[in-house]
Amino acid sequence: METALTAHDVMITGIPTATPDAPVASVIAILETTDLGGLPVLDEERRLVGMVTEYDIISKRGTTAGAIMSQGVITVQERAPVGELIELMGLHGVRQLPVVQDGQLVGIVTRRELMRHYARTIWVCEQCSAEAPGLMRPLHCPSCGGVAFRVRQ
Ligand SMILES: [Zn+2]
Repeated sequence: METALTAHDVMITGIPTATPDAPVASVIAILETTDLGGLPVLDEERRLVGMVTEYDIISKRGTTAGAIMSQGVITVQERAPVGELIELMGLHGVRQLPVVQDGQLVGIVTRRELMRHYARTIWVCEQCSAEAPGLMRPLHCPSCGGVAFRVRQ
């Protein structure tokens, strides 16, 4: 029985990133072409050192990613359950969570991508086959009250 999706299941990989010396203009050009609300900033060893968000760009003075990036970014590990990601997003009001493994950026989870997974993750009641979309396993089947579900994606 499937219990929960993890960050690994819902993260976007192969995302664009910036180096600290990247000009803000190039960060804007990249952000305009993606769903991302911010661009991860990586050092030479591909360690996450910050994040340039749309708000950093419009609210700060500076000409490079490193000068305006937010530091102390909240990150998650690949095995973090989706429920925890949603909680962190609500708690900190962030639109995306970088996924970091062994200090390296491996992907990013965005609200937009979670919404897509919400729609295409279907929980099927083992008892009556009723279906419901959602990121987290339903507590009870709305039709028969059953508590066993399998996932169809
Ligand atoms: Zn049912």
